[in-house]
Amino acid sequence: MTTTLISPVTGETIGEVPSASQTETDTAVERAQEAFGPWRDVAPGERARLLRRFAAVVDDHNEELAQLEVRNAGHTIGNARWEAGNVRDCLNYYSAAPERLFGRQIPVAGGVDITFHEPLGVVGIIVPWNFPMPIAGWGFAPALAAGNTVVLKPAELTPLTAIRLGELALEAGIPEGVLTVIPGKGSVVGERFVTHPLVRKIAFTGSTTVGKQIMAGCADQVKKVTLELGGKSANIVFADTDIAAAAAAAPNAAFDNSGQDCCARSRILVQRTAYDEFVGRLEEAVTAMRVADPGQESTEMGPLVSEGQRASVQAYIDGANVAFTGSAPDGPGWWLPPTVVESTSTDEKVWREEVFGPVVAVMPFDDEEEAVTLANDSEYGLSGSIFTNDLGRGMRVARGVEAGNLSVNSHASVRYWTPFGGYKQSGLGRELGPDAPHAFTEEKNVFIAH
Ligand code: NAD
Repeated sequence: MTTTLISPVTGETIGEVPSASQTETDTAVERAQEAFGPWRDVAPGERARLLRRFAAVVDDHNEELAQLEVRNAGHTIGNARWEAGNVRDCLNYYSAAPERLFGRQIPVAGGVDITFHEPLGVVGIIVPWNFPMPIAGWGFAPALAAGNTVVLKPAELTPLTAIRLGELALEAGIPEGVLTVIPGKGSVVGERFVTHPLVRKIAFTGSTTVGKQIMAGCADQVKKVTLELGGKSANIVFADTDIAAAAAAAPNAAFDNSGQDCCARSRILVQRTAYDEFVGRLEEAVTAMRVADPGQESTEMGPLVSEGQRASVQAYIDGANVAFTGSAPDGPGWWLPPTVVESTSTDEKVWREEVFGPVVAVMPFDDEEEAVTLANDSEYGLSGSIFTNDLGRGMRVARGVEAGNLSVNSHASVRYWTPFGGYKQSGLGRELGPDAPHAFTEEKNVFIAH
């Protein structure tokens, strides 16, 4: 079986990749299990050196990986270079973990008590199509550093960079079977990760619907699971802030990666006294966005990933009160213009649901309390931003919003060295940051009697 890949830019076929069967998945998992013992026993300093070598090889191939992502996923070339660089950075960051995976010595009577962080075994990483490279790296870098072996399933639509990263791992000297990329269907390869007894943990990133199924499936073997799911994050703009600056920053926070971003600030809450000024300036910023061929250096937004995704986003636009749009190329490819909707009720689908496309909904609020209530009126809780000149208010609202990643006077929410993950139905567990390797270990306690 193969999967046909379509260019989001032209709608033309760009290639075929094999789609693994359940038997092929089982074979790969068994090989990963065979590779686990030797990989776990690699001396910490040597495992660290191999991860740094892997990072260097990824860096040497930054442009090639970036160009692959432009072709396969329609990401802008600037973003795609950052994404390949993010894999390198994650590998370098977690290459410091093997020699630092400390246990504790806990005071007890009659002996010595020590703890160990032991690797789990084979870890299954399931990746969505929106950020194929970073999300793969957020999983495999800390998992490998902690001594696990990894089987990784890229999304059906966007397997090319993951396949290439698997080849580069081998080129860097990572032993065969330690990182295996298995392209294929979620219902075949992904489900087999969940049901295979040798896979000891699932790190899943994707939709909340599939995440719930995976969590239920993992329960059967009490399999460890982390979930990074959907979002509907709020960008809260208070009237005391620099409205021009907040309006200029808002489009990128909503439309980066064509809005196909779990952290997209797809709801903008604006204090009523500044609402008209903000919306006017937002229109200037959105109409100035360069939506074009993602391979061009100056492009700010490319197409959507697939025809199906464009249709799904269009359905939200059709029912909404569109205030204005930016531009988009005519002709082939899965294009939509950046679109701003004015919402009058929190019941609107476009206000409540994760659209996962270049659509942002704006709504006024009166005071701080209402802003927090509106922001929290969501089943999701992944990220969010607060724009205000009052630092006390910024801190109060950041603490009041039920989400895992908040930024005050900024939209930055992802750094490989800070923890990332969701409240409520946006997820379970955290990725990245200094503790990520621990999420791929069991803590063992050993008591030795004097
Ligand atoms: P999706 O849930 O359809 O698919 C994600 C992955 O799961 C794919 O590899 C798919 O093949 C696989 N899969 C599908 N069904 C499966 C099953 N039954 N068992 C095992 N695996 C299965 O999601 P998508 O459409 O690829 O990605 C978009 C979603 O991902 C959005 O909801 C977005 O918010 C979310 N996302 C979340 C984060 C985060 O960190 N919180 C980051 C990126 C994307």
